[in-house]
Amino acid sequence: MAPAESQTKYIFVTGGVTSSLGKGIISASLAKLLQARGYSATIQKLDPYINIDPGTLNPYEHGECYVTEDGAETDLDLGHYERFLNVPTSQANNVTTGRIYQSVIEKERRGDYLGETVQVIPHITDEIKQSIKLLGKNKQFDFVITEIGGTVGDIESLPYVEAIRQLRWELGKNCLVIHLTLVPYLAAAKELKTKPTQHSVKTMQEYGVQPDILVCRTEKHLNDGIRNKIALFCNVSSRDVIESIDTDSIYRVPMLMLEEQLDLRVLNKTNMKSDQQPELSAWKNFLDHLKNPDCDVSIALVGKYVELMDAYKSIIESLIHAGTTNKCNVNIKMVHSEHIENGNESIILKNVSGVIVAPGFGERGIEGKIAAITYARTHKIPFLGICLGMQCATIEFAQNVLNLKGAHSYEMMPNTPYPIISMMEEQKKVNIKGGTMRLGAYKCKLDLESKAFSIYKQETISERHRHRYEFNNYFLKDFEKHGMVASGINPESGLVEIMELKNHPWFVGVQFHPEYKSTVARPHPLFVEFVKAAMDFKK
Ligand code: GLN
Repeated sequence: MAPAESQTKYIFVTGGVTSSLGKGIISASLAKLLQARGYSATIQKLDPYINIDPGTLNPYEHGECYVTEDGAETDLDLGHYERFLNVPTSQANNVTTGRIYQSVIEKERRGDYLGETVQVIPHITDEIKQSIKLLGKNKQFDFVITEIGGTVGDIESLPYVEAIRQLRWELGKNCLVIHLTLVPYLAAAKELKTKPTQHSVKTMQEYGVQPDILVCRTEKHLNDGIRNKIALFCNVSSRDVIESIDTDSIYRVPMLMLEEQLDLRVLNKTNMKSDQQPELSAWKNFLDHLKNPDCDVSIALVGKYVELMDAYKSIIESLIHAGTTNKCNVNIKMVHSEHIENGNESIILKNVSGVIVAPGFGERGIEGKIAAITYARTHKIPFLGICLGMQCATIEFAQNVLNLKGAHSYEMMPNTPYPIISMMEEQKKVNIKGGTMRLGAYKCKLDLESKAFSIYKQETISERHRHRYEFNNYFLKDFEKHGMVASGINPESGLVEIMELKNHPWFVGVQFHPEYKSTVARPHPLFVEFVKAAMDFKK
Protein backbone atom coordinates (compact mmCIF):
# COMPACT_ATOMS: atom_id res chain seq x y z
CA MET A 1 0.00 0.00 0.00
CA ALA A 2 1.27 3.40 -0.91
CA PRO A 3 2.23 5.93 1.67
CA ALA A 4 -0.44 8.55 1.16
CA GLU A 5 -1.80 11.60 2.86
CA SER A 6 -5.43 11.31 3.78
CA GLN A 7 -6.74 13.75 1.18
CA THR A 8 -7.33 12.97 -2.49
CA LYS A 9 -5.15 15.11 -4.70
CA TYR A 10 -6.71 16.77 -7.72
CA ILE A 11 -4.52 17.41 -10.72
CA PHE A 12 -5.75 19.43 -13.66
CA VAL A 13 -4.23 19.15 -17.10
CA THR A 14 -4.99 22.04 -19.41
CA GLY A 15 -3.72 22.73 -22.90
CA GLY A 16 -2.49 25.89 -24.55
CA VAL A 17 -1.36 27.18 -27.96
CA THR A 18 -2.98 24.44 -30.03
CA SER A 19 -5.03 21.28 -29.75
CA SER A 20 -3.60 17.80 -30.38
CA LEU A 21 -0.56 18.26 -28.13
CA GLY A 22 -1.32 15.00 -26.39
CA LYS A 23 -2.91 16.02 -23.07
CA GLY A 24 -4.50 12.58 -22.88
CA ILE A 25 -1.16 10.82 -23.22
CA ILE A 26 0.53 13.14 -20.71
CA SER A 27 -2.31 12.56 -18.23
CA ALA A 28 -2.15 8.79 -18.78
CA SER A 29 1.65 8.79 -18.46
CA LEU A 30 1.59 10.74 -15.21
CA ALA A 31 -1.09 8.41 -13.84
CA LYS A 32 0.99 5.43 -14.91
CA LEU A 33 4.04 6.73 -13.02
CA LEU A 34 2.00 7.44 -9.89
CA GLN A 35 0.48 3.97 -10.13
CA ALA A 36 3.97 2.49 -10.53
CA ARG A 37 4.92 4.19 -7.27
CA GLY A 38 2.07 2.46 -5.51
CA TYR A 39 -0.57 5.18 -5.65
CA SER A 40 -4.05 4.75 -7.03
CA ALA A 41 -5.02 7.17 -9.75
CA THR A 42 -7.90 7.75 -12.10
CA ILE A 43 -8.23 10.10 -15.03
CA GLN A 44 -11.23 12.07 -16.11
CA LYS A 45 -11.87 13.96 -19.32
CA LEU A 46 -14.03 17.07 -19.36
CA ASP A 47 -15.09 17.92 -22.90
CA PRO A 48 -16.34 21.44 -23.60
CA TYR A 49 -18.82 20.56 -26.36
CA ILE A 50 -22.61 20.61 -26.15
CA ASN A 51 -23.18 16.99 -27.18
CA ILE A 52 -24.24 14.92 -24.17
CA ASP A 53 -21.62 12.36 -25.22
CA PRO A 54 -19.66 11.60 -28.40
CA GLY A 55 -22.02 8.71 -29.21
CA THR A 56 -23.86 10.77 -31.79
CA LEU A 57 -20.72 12.33 -33.29
CA ASN A 58 -19.36 10.92 -36.50
CA PRO A 59 -15.75 9.73 -36.48
CA TYR A 60 -14.68 12.55 -38.84
CA GLU A 61 -15.58 14.96 -36.06
CA HIS A 62 -14.22 13.19 -33.07
CA GLY A 63 -12.42 9.96 -33.93
CA GLU A 64 -13.46 6.74 -32.30
CA CYS A 65 -16.23 6.56 -29.74
CA TYR A 66 -14.88 4.52 -26.83
CA VAL A 67 -17.25 2.40 -24.73
CA THR A 68 -16.79 1.67 -21.02
CA GLU A 69 -17.90 -1.38 -19.03
CA ASP A 70 -20.97 0.47 -17.76
CA GLY A 71 -21.98 1.36 -21.31
CA ALA A 72 -20.93 5.01 -21.51
CA GLU A 73 -20.07 6.24 -25.00
CA THR A 74 -17.00 8.36 -24.37
CA ASP A 75 -14.04 10.27 -25.71
CA LEU A 76 -11.24 8.14 -27.14
CA ASP A 77 -8.82 9.42 -24.49
CA LEU A 78 -10.52 7.09 -22.01
CA GLY A 79 -9.18 4.26 -24.14
CA HIS A 80 -5.65 5.55 -23.50
CA TYR A 81 -6.35 5.79 -19.78
CA GLU A 82 -7.43 2.15 -19.66
CA ARG A 83 -4.63 0.93 -21.92
CA PHE A 84 -2.01 2.65 -19.74
CA LEU A 85 -3.46 1.95 -16.31
CA ASN A 86 -5.26 -1.35 -16.86
CA VAL A 87 -8.07 -0.03 -14.66
CA PRO A 88 -11.60 0.29 -16.05
CA THR A 89 -13.16 3.73 -16.41
CA SER A 90 -16.86 4.56 -16.23
CA GLN A 91 -19.45 7.18 -17.09
CA ALA A 92 -18.01 9.41 -14.35
CA ASN A 93 -14.69 9.60 -16.21
CA ASN A 94 -16.10 11.59 -19.13
CA VAL A 95 -18.30 14.64 -18.73
CA THR A 96 -19.30 17.11 -21.43
CA THR A 97 -20.70 20.63 -21.28
CA GLY A 98 -23.91 19.14 -22.67
CA ARG A 99 -24.21 16.81 -19.70
CA ILE A 100 -23.41 19.62 -17.23
CA TYR A 101 -26.10 21.87 -18.71
CA GLN A 102 -28.58 19.01 -18.94
CA SER A 103 -28.17 18.32 -15.25
CA VAL A 104 -28.45 21.99 -14.27
CA ILE A 105 -31.54 22.47 -16.43
CA GLU A 106 -33.18 19.36 -14.94
CA LYS A 107 -32.52 20.75 -11.45
CA GLU A 108 -33.98 24.09 -12.46
CA ARG A 109 -37.15 22.38 -13.75
CA ARG A 110 -37.46 20.36 -10.57
CA GLY A 111 -37.30 23.57 -8.60
CA ASP A 112 -34.10 22.62 -6.82
CA TYR A 113 -32.71 26.16 -7.05
CA LEU A 114 -35.59 27.62 -5.01
CA GLY A 115 -36.16 30.64 -7.19
CA GLU A 116 -32.55 31.64 -7.71
CA THR A 117 -31.40 33.03 -11.06
CA VAL A 118 -29.51 30.13 -12.61
CA GLN A 119 -26.14 31.30 -13.95
CA VAL A 120 -22.85 30.07 -15.36
CA ILE A 121 -21.24 31.09 -12.09
CA PRO A 122 -22.04 29.55 -9.64
CA HIS A 123 -24.46 26.95 -11.00
CA ILE A 124 -22.59 25.63 -14.01
CA THR A 125 -19.23 25.87 -12.27
CA ASP A 126 -20.67 24.11 -9.20
CA GLU A 127 -21.92 21.31 -11.39
CA ILE A 128 -18.44 21.02 -12.98
CA LYS A 129 -16.78 20.96 -9.56
CA GLN A 130 -19.22 18.30 -8.40
CA SER A 131 -18.37 16.04 -11.38
CA ILE A 132 -14.68 16.43 -10.56
CA LYS A 133 -15.08 15.72 -6.85
CA LEU A 134 -17.35 12.74 -7.50
CA LEU A 135 -14.30 10.68 -8.43
CA GLY A 136 -12.52 11.67 -5.24
CA LYS A 137 -15.47 10.61 -3.05
CA ASN A 138 -14.79 8.07 -0.29
CA LYS A 139 -11.12 8.48 -1.04
CA GLN A 140 -11.25 5.81 -3.72
CA PHE A 141 -8.15 7.27 -5.36
CA ASP A 142 -5.04 9.03 -4.15
CA PHE A 143 -5.01 11.09 -7.34
CA VAL A 144 -7.81 12.28 -9.57
CA ILE A 145 -6.35 13.66 -12.78
CA THR A 146 -8.76 15.82 -14.73
CA GLU A 147 -7.98 16.62 -18.33
CA ILE A 148 -9.78 19.65 -19.73
CA GLY A 149 -10.50 19.21 -23.43
CA GLY A 150 -9.90 22.05 -25.91
CA THR A 151 -7.42 24.89 -25.62
CA VAL A 152 -7.25 27.60 -22.96
CA GLY A 153 -8.60 30.81 -24.45
CA ASP A 154 -11.50 29.09 -26.21
CA ILE A 155 -14.82 30.58 -25.16
CA GLU A 156 -16.24 27.15 -24.43
CA SER A 157 -13.54 26.11 -21.99
CA LEU A 158 -13.92 29.24 -19.83
CA PRO A 159 -16.32 27.74 -17.23
CA TYR A 160 -13.89 24.85 -16.72
CA VAL A 161 -10.91 27.12 -16.10
CA GLU A 162 -13.09 29.14 -13.73
CA ALA A 163 -14.03 25.93 -11.88
CA ILE A 164 -10.31 25.15 -11.52
CA ARG A 165 -9.68 28.64 -10.16
CA GLN A 166 -12.36 28.12 -7.52
CA LEU A 167 -11.12 24.64 -6.64
CA ARG A 168 -7.61 25.92 -6.06
CA TRP A 169 -9.00 28.07 -3.29
CA GLU A 170 -10.99 25.26 -1.81
CA LEU A 171 -8.33 22.57 -2.06
CA GLY A 172 -5.08 24.44 -1.54
CA LYS A 173 -2.13 22.03 -1.55
CA ASN A 174 -4.41 19.21 -2.65
CA CYS A 175 -4.74 20.74 -6.07
CA LEU A 176 -2.26 21.22 -8.89
CA VAL A 177 -2.41 22.60 -12.42
CA ILE A 178 -0.28 21.23 -15.21
CA HIS A 179 -0.39 23.24 -18.40
CA LEU A 180 0.68 21.63 -21.66
CA THR A 181 2.01 23.97 -24.33
CA LEU A 182 3.94 23.93 -27.56
CA VAL A 183 7.48 25.20 -28.01
CA PRO A 184 7.76 25.36 -31.79
CA TYR A 185 11.03 25.08 -33.69
CA LEU A 186 11.52 27.62 -36.45
CA ALA A 187 13.73 25.93 -38.99
CA ALA A 188 14.67 29.17 -40.77
CA ALA A 189 15.85 30.77 -37.53
CA LYS A 190 17.15 27.43 -36.16
CA GLU A 191 15.50 28.35 -32.90
CA LEU A 192 12.94 27.09 -30.42
CA LYS A 193 10.37 29.76 -29.63
CA THR A 194 8.93 30.33 -26.17
CA LYS A 195 6.51 33.18 -26.96
CA PRO A 196 3.43 31.00 -27.61
CA THR A 197 3.98 29.39 -24.19
CA GLN A 198 4.35 32.79 -22.53
CA HIS A 199 1.09 33.98 -24.10
CA SER A 200 -0.75 30.85 -23.20
CA VAL A 201 0.32 31.08 -19.55
CA LYS A 202 -0.65 34.77 -19.55
CA THR A 203 -4.13 33.78 -20.70
CA MET A 204 -4.34 31.34 -17.78
CA GLN A 205 -3.19 34.08 -15.41
CA GLU A 206 -5.86 36.46 -16.76
CA TYR A 207 -8.40 33.87 -15.71
CA GLY A 208 -6.82 33.75 -12.28
CA VAL A 209 -5.00 30.44 -12.61
CA GLN A 210 -1.23 30.14 -12.27
CA PRO A 211 -0.01 26.79 -13.66
CA ASP A 212 2.30 24.91 -11.27
CA ILE A 213 4.02 22.82 -13.91
CA LEU A 214 4.50 23.43 -17.61
CA VAL A 215 4.86 20.47 -19.93
CA CYS A 216 6.33 21.71 -23.19
CA ARG A 217 5.76 19.70 -26.32
CA THR A 218 8.72 20.10 -28.63
CA GLU A 219 10.54 18.46 -31.52
CA LYS A 220 14.02 19.50 -30.24
CA HIS A 221 15.47 19.21 -26.76
CA LEU A 222 14.96 22.20 -24.50
CA ASN A 223 18.32 23.46 -23.26
CA ASP A 224 18.76 25.18 -19.90
CA GLY A 225 18.56 28.59 -21.52
CA ILE A 226 15.11 27.86 -22.91
CA ARG A 227 13.92 26.27 -19.67
CA ASN A 228 15.12 29.26 -17.65
CA LYS A 229 13.50 31.69 -20.02
CA ILE A 230 10.14 29.92 -19.84
CA ALA A 231 10.44 29.74 -16.05
CA LEU A 232 11.24 33.45 -15.79
CA PHE A 233 8.35 34.59 -17.95
CA CYS A 234 5.79 32.14 -16.64
CA ASN A 235 6.23 32.29 -12.84
CA VAL A 236 7.41 28.73 -12.38
CA SER A 237 10.72 27.25 -11.28
CA SER A 238 12.87 25.87 -14.09
CA ARG A 239 12.51 22.38 -12.55
CA ASP A 240 8.84 22.70 -13.31
CA VAL A 241 9.46 23.19 -17.01
CA ILE A 242 9.11 19.67 -18.30
CA GLU A 243 10.15 18.72 -21.80
CA SER A 244 7.83 16.47 -23.79
CA ILE A 245 9.76 15.61 -26.89
CA ASP A 246 8.23 13.93 -29.96
CA THR A 247 8.66 10.18 -29.86
CA ASP A 248 7.79 7.22 -32.06
CA SER A 249 5.41 5.54 -29.65
CA ILE A 250 2.92 6.87 -27.10
CA TYR A 251 4.00 4.04 -24.80
CA ARG A 252 7.43 5.66 -24.42
CA VAL A 253 5.99 8.85 -22.97
CA PRO A 254 5.82 7.55 -19.36
CA MET A 255 9.56 6.83 -19.52
CA LEU A 256 10.25 10.31 -20.93
CA MET A 257 8.15 11.85 -18.14
CA LEU A 258 10.04 9.76 -15.61
CA GLU A 259 13.35 11.11 -16.91
CA GLU A 260 11.97 14.62 -16.70
CA GLN A 261 10.75 13.86 -13.14
CA LEU A 262 7.19 14.96 -13.78
CA ASP A 263 5.94 12.47 -11.17
CA LEU A 264 8.44 13.68 -8.58
CA ARG A 265 7.47 17.29 -9.10
CA VAL A 266 3.80 16.36 -8.63
CA LEU A 267 4.50 14.36 -5.47
CA ASN A 268 6.65 17.12 -4.08
CA LYS A 269 4.05 19.81 -4.68
CA THR A 270 1.19 17.78 -3.25
CA ASN A 271 3.14 16.73 -0.13
CA MET A 272 3.06 13.06 -1.06
CA LYS A 273 5.92 10.71 -0.29
CA SER A 274 8.20 9.68 -3.11
CA ASP A 275 10.45 7.14 -1.44
CA GLN A 276 9.01 4.17 -3.32
CA GLN A 277 10.75 3.72 -6.69
CA PRO A 278 8.40 3.22 -9.63
CA GLU A 279 7.87 -0.45 -10.50
CA LEU A 280 7.94 -0.39 -14.28
CA SER A 281 9.60 -3.68 -15.21
CA ALA A 282 6.59 -5.05 -17.14
CA TRP A 283 6.20 -1.75 -18.95
CA LYS A 284 9.89 -1.71 -19.88
CA ASN A 285 9.62 -5.27 -21.05
CA PHE A 286 6.76 -4.26 -23.31
CA LEU A 287 8.81 -1.37 -24.73
CA ASP A 288 11.70 -3.71 -25.30
CA HIS A 289 9.58 -6.11 -27.35
CA LEU A 290 8.02 -3.22 -29.19
CA LYS A 291 11.43 -1.97 -30.22
CA ASN A 292 12.98 -5.31 -31.11
CA PRO A 293 10.47 -7.45 -32.99
CA ASP A 294 11.68 -10.73 -34.46
CA CYS A 295 9.50 -10.53 -37.55
CA ASP A 296 6.82 -8.52 -39.23
CA VAL A 297 3.43 -9.16 -40.67
CA SER A 298 0.96 -7.12 -42.72
CA ILE A 299 -2.66 -6.91 -41.70
CA ALA A 300 -5.36 -5.10 -43.66
CA LEU A 301 -7.84 -3.03 -41.70
CA VAL A 302 -10.86 -2.56 -43.95
CA GLY A 303 -13.17 0.31 -43.05
CA LYS A 304 -14.65 3.50 -44.39
CA TYR A 305 -12.82 5.99 -42.18
CA VAL A 306 -9.29 4.92 -43.00
CA GLU A 307 -7.99 8.38 -43.85
CA LEU A 308 -8.44 9.10 -40.17
CA MET A 309 -6.19 7.05 -37.85
CA ASP A 310 -8.22 8.13 -34.79
CA ALA A 311 -11.38 6.45 -36.08
CA TYR A 312 -9.98 3.00 -35.31
CA LYS A 313 -7.71 3.95 -32.41
CA SER A 314 -8.50 1.02 -30.12
CA ILE A 315 -8.16 -1.56 -32.89
CA ILE A 316 -4.80 -0.15 -33.91
CA GLU A 317 -3.56 -0.11 -30.30
CA SER A 318 -4.85 -3.66 -29.75
CA LEU A 319 -2.81 -4.79 -32.75
CA ILE A 320 0.26 -3.08 -31.29
CA HIS A 321 -0.27 -4.90 -27.96
CA ALA A 322 -0.84 -8.22 -29.75
CA GLY A 323 2.16 -7.74 -32.05
CA THR A 324 4.37 -6.91 -29.09
CA THR A 325 3.22 -10.05 -27.25
CA ASN A 326 4.17 -12.07 -30.34
CA LYS A 327 7.43 -10.12 -30.77
CA CYS A 328 6.20 -9.21 -34.22
CA ASN A 329 5.86 -5.82 -35.84
CA VAL A 330 2.33 -5.48 -37.19
CA ASN A 331 2.19 -3.42 -40.33
CA ILE A 332 -1.34 -2.10 -40.58
CA LYS A 333 -2.51 -1.55 -44.13
CA MET A 334 -5.50 0.77 -43.99
CA VAL A 335 -7.88 -0.22 -46.78
CA HIS A 336 -10.78 2.01 -47.74
CA SER A 337 -13.79 -0.25 -48.21
CA GLU A 338 -15.10 1.98 -51.00
CA HIS A 339 -11.88 1.40 -52.93
CA ILE A 340 -12.52 -2.34 -53.12
CA GLU A 341 -14.51 -2.72 -56.33
CA ASN A 342 -14.70 -4.66 -59.58
CA GLY A 343 -12.63 -7.55 -58.31
CA ASN A 344 -9.57 -5.49 -57.32
CA GLU A 345 -9.47 -7.10 -53.84
CA SER A 346 -6.92 -9.63 -55.07
CA ILE A 347 -4.58 -6.72 -55.85
CA ILE A 348 -5.35 -4.68 -52.73
CA LEU A 349 -5.12 -7.64 -50.34
CA LYS A 350 -2.32 -9.41 -52.17
CA ASN A 351 0.46 -9.28 -49.61
CA VAL A 352 -1.48 -9.20 -46.40
CA SER A 353 -1.48 -12.08 -43.92
CA GLY A 354 -4.63 -11.11 -42.09
CA VAL A 355 -7.81 -9.13 -42.71
CA ILE A 356 -9.86 -7.20 -40.17
CA VAL A 357 -13.21 -5.77 -41.16
CA ALA A 358 -13.98 -2.84 -38.91
CA PRO A 359 -17.11 -1.83 -37.02
CA GLY A 360 -19.40 0.75 -38.57
CA PHE A 361 -22.84 1.98 -39.46
CA GLY A 362 -24.78 2.51 -42.68
CA GLU A 363 -24.37 1.11 -46.14
CA ARG A 364 -21.44 3.13 -47.50
CA GLY A 365 -18.57 0.79 -48.34
CA ILE A 366 -20.48 -2.40 -47.49
CA GLU A 367 -19.90 -4.07 -50.84
CA GLY A 368 -16.13 -3.61 -50.48
CA LYS A 369 -16.21 -5.13 -47.00
CA ILE A 370 -18.12 -8.14 -48.29
CA ALA A 371 -15.70 -8.59 -51.20
CA ALA A 372 -12.74 -8.46 -48.78
CA ILE A 373 -14.38 -11.15 -46.67
CA THR A 374 -14.98 -13.41 -49.69
CA TYR A 375 -11.30 -13.04 -50.49
CA ALA A 376 -10.17 -13.87 -46.94
CA ARG A 377 -12.59 -16.79 -46.68
CA THR A 378 -11.69 -18.40 -50.01
CA HIS A 379 -7.93 -17.74 -49.72
CA LYS A 380 -7.86 -19.00 -46.12
CA ILE A 381 -6.40 -15.71 -44.88
CA PRO A 382 -6.92 -15.18 -41.12
CA PHE A 383 -9.98 -12.99 -40.67
CA LEU A 384 -11.36 -11.06 -37.73
CA GLY A 385 -14.71 -9.31 -38.16
CA ILE A 386 -15.67 -6.82 -35.47
CA CYS A 387 -19.32 -5.89 -34.93
CA LEU A 388 -20.39 -4.72 -38.42
CA GLY A 389 -17.42 -6.78 -39.65
CA MET A 390 -18.97 -9.90 -38.11
CA GLN A 391 -22.37 -9.00 -39.53
CA CYS A 392 -20.83 -8.62 -43.02
CA ALA A 393 -19.16 -12.03 -42.67
CA THR A 394 -22.54 -13.67 -42.11
CA ILE A 395 -24.08 -11.77 -45.03
CA GLU A 396 -21.20 -12.86 -47.25
CA PHE A 397 -21.67 -16.47 -46.19
CA ALA A 398 -25.42 -16.31 -46.82
CA GLN A 399 -24.95 -14.80 -50.27
CA ASN A 400 -22.08 -16.95 -51.48
CA VAL A 401 -22.25 -20.25 -49.61
CA LEU A 402 -25.93 -20.62 -48.76
CA ASN A 403 -26.86 -19.01 -52.10
CA LEU A 404 -29.52 -16.83 -50.57
CA LYS A 405 -29.86 -14.16 -53.25
CA GLY A 406 -30.35 -10.69 -51.84
CA ALA A 407 -29.43 -11.78 -48.31
CA HIS A 408 -28.47 -8.70 -46.31
CA SER A 409 -28.79 -6.73 -43.11
CA TYR A 410 -32.04 -5.00 -42.24
CA GLU A 411 -29.88 -1.92 -41.50
CA MET A 412 -28.74 -1.50 -45.12
CA MET A 413 -31.62 -3.18 -46.92
CA PRO A 414 -34.90 -3.20 -45.00
CA ASN A 415 -36.67 -5.04 -47.83
CA THR A 416 -34.16 -7.88 -48.17
CA PRO A 417 -35.84 -11.29 -48.67
CA TYR A 418 -33.28 -12.80 -46.25
CA PRO A 419 -32.61 -10.49 -43.28
CA ILE A 420 -29.54 -12.33 -41.98
CA ILE A 421 -28.97 -9.41 -39.64
CA SER A 422 -32.14 -8.08 -38.07
CA MET A 423 -32.93 -5.36 -35.59
CA MET A 424 -32.80 -6.43 -31.95
CA GLU A 425 -36.29 -6.71 -30.48
CA GLU A 426 -35.79 -4.05 -27.81
CA GLN A 427 -34.40 -1.65 -30.43
CA LYS A 428 -37.69 -1.62 -32.32
CA LYS A 429 -39.23 0.64 -29.68
CA VAL A 430 -36.32 3.06 -29.77
CA ASN A 431 -36.83 6.34 -31.60
CA ILE A 432 -34.02 8.55 -30.38
CA LYS A 433 -30.39 8.03 -31.32
CA GLY A 434 -28.33 9.14 -28.29
CA GLY A 435 -27.33 6.47 -25.78
CA THR A 436 -29.93 3.96 -26.96
CA MET A 437 -27.85 1.17 -28.52
CA ARG A 438 -27.04 -2.09 -26.73
CA LEU A 439 -24.07 -0.68 -24.85
CA GLY A 440 -21.39 -1.90 -22.47
CA ALA A 441 -20.48 -5.25 -20.98
CA TYR A 442 -22.55 -8.38 -21.56
CA LYS A 443 -21.74 -12.00 -20.90
CA CYS A 444 -21.08 -14.55 -23.60
CA LYS A 445 -20.93 -18.32 -23.20
CA LEU A 446 -18.48 -20.19 -25.39
CA ASP A 447 -18.85 -23.56 -27.05
CA LEU A 448 -16.14 -25.74 -25.51
CA GLU A 449 -15.24 -27.25 -28.88
CA SER A 450 -14.73 -23.90 -30.58
CA LYS A 451 -11.77 -21.84 -31.67
CA ALA A 452 -13.15 -19.06 -29.48
CA PHE A 453 -12.81 -21.28 -26.41
CA SER A 454 -9.29 -22.31 -27.39
CA ILE A 455 -8.47 -18.58 -27.55
CA TYR A 456 -10.12 -17.39 -24.34
CA LYS A 457 -9.58 -20.61 -22.38
CA GLN A 458 -12.64 -19.91 -20.28
CA GLU A 459 -16.27 -20.76 -20.74
CA THR A 460 -17.90 -17.48 -19.85
CA ILE A 461 -16.45 -14.22 -21.02
CA SER A 462 -17.64 -10.63 -20.85
CA GLU A 463 -17.12 -8.09 -23.62
CA ARG A 464 -18.32 -4.59 -24.46
CA HIS A 465 -20.94 -3.80 -27.07
CA ARG A 466 -22.30 -0.99 -29.21
CA HIS A 467 -24.93 -2.07 -31.71
CA ARG A 468 -28.62 -2.15 -32.67
CA TYR A 469 -28.69 -5.17 -34.95
CA GLU A 470 -28.00 -8.85 -34.39
CA PHE A 471 -27.63 -12.14 -36.21
CA ASN A 472 -31.06 -13.53 -37.07
CA ASN A 473 -31.25 -16.91 -35.32
CA TYR A 474 -33.88 -18.07 -37.82
CA PHE A 475 -30.99 -18.81 -40.19
CA LEU A 476 -28.61 -20.38 -37.68
CA LYS A 477 -29.32 -24.03 -38.48
CA ASP A 478 -28.58 -23.50 -42.15
CA PHE A 479 -25.34 -21.67 -41.33
CA GLU A 480 -24.15 -24.38 -38.97
CA LYS A 481 -25.00 -27.12 -41.46
CA HIS A 482 -22.69 -25.42 -43.95
CA GLY A 483 -19.80 -24.84 -41.57
CA MET A 484 -20.30 -21.42 -40.01
CA VAL A 485 -21.10 -21.94 -36.33
CA ALA A 486 -22.21 -19.75 -33.48
CA SER A 487 -19.46 -20.38 -30.94
CA GLY A 488 -20.45 -17.68 -28.47
CA ILE A 489 -23.97 -16.89 -27.29
CA ASN A 490 -25.35 -14.45 -24.76
CA PRO A 491 -26.79 -16.76 -22.07
CA GLU A 492 -29.79 -14.53 -21.25
CA SER A 493 -31.03 -13.58 -24.69
CA GLY A 494 -29.57 -16.23 -27.00
CA LEU A 495 -28.05 -13.44 -29.10
CA VAL A 496 -25.18 -14.66 -31.28
CA GLU A 497 -21.96 -13.09 -30.08
CA ILE A 498 -19.37 -15.04 -32.06
CA MET A 499 -19.46 -16.77 -35.44
CA GLU A 500 -16.60 -18.85 -36.75
CA LEU A 501 -15.85 -20.96 -39.79
CA LYS A 502 -14.97 -24.59 -39.37
CA ASN A 503 -13.05 -25.17 -42.59
CA HIS A 504 -10.72 -22.25 -42.27
CA PRO A 505 -7.51 -21.82 -40.28
CA TRP A 506 -8.74 -18.68 -38.49
CA PHE A 507 -12.02 -16.99 -39.34
CA VAL A 508 -13.81 -15.36 -36.40
CA GLY A 509 -16.50 -12.69 -36.31
CA VAL A 510 -17.52 -11.05 -33.04
CA GLN A 511 -20.60 -8.94 -32.37
CA PHE A 512 -18.75 -7.20 -29.51
CA HIS A 513 -15.70 -4.93 -29.47
CA PRO A 514 -12.67 -6.76 -28.07
CA GLU A 515 -10.53 -3.70 -28.89
CA TYR A 516 -11.96 -1.76 -25.93
CA LYS A 517 -10.45 -4.21 -23.47
CA SER A 518 -6.90 -4.65 -24.72
CA THR A 519 -4.30 -3.02 -22.47
CA VAL A 520 -0.51 -3.02 -22.27
CA ALA A 521 -0.67 -5.21 -19.18
CA ARG A 522 -3.36 -7.46 -20.65
CA PRO A 523 -3.24 -7.68 -24.46
CA HIS A 524 -6.54 -9.09 -25.71
CA PRO A 525 -6.36 -12.85 -26.48
CA LEU A 526 -8.41 -12.52 -29.70
CA PHE A 527 -5.92 -10.05 -31.15
CA VAL A 528 -2.94 -11.99 -29.83
CA GLU A 529 -4.15 -15.21 -31.48
CA PHE A 530 -5.21 -13.42 -34.64
CA VAL A 531 -1.73 -11.94 -35.06
CA LYS A 532 -0.24 -15.36 -34.35
CA ALA A 533 -2.45 -16.86 -37.06
CA ALA A 534 -1.33 -14.13 -39.47
CA MET A 535 2.32 -14.95 -38.65
CA ASP A 536 1.61 -18.63 -39.39
CA PHE A 537 -0.14 -17.73 -42.62
CA LYS A 538 2.89 -15.69 -43.73
CA LYS A 539 5.16 -18.68 -43.16
N1 GLN B 1 -24.33 -1.00 -37.44
C1 GLN B 1 -24.28 -2.25 -36.75
C2 GLN B 1 -25.28 -2.32 -35.62
O1 GLN B 1 -25.75 -1.31 -35.13
C3 GLN B 1 -22.88 -2.52 -36.23
C4 GLN B 1 -22.45 -1.55 -35.18
C5 GLN B 1 -20.95 -1.54 -34.96
O2 GLN B 1 -20.18 -2.01 -35.79
N2 GLN B 1 -20.51 -0.95 -33.86
O3 GLN B 1 -25.63 -3.40 -35.19
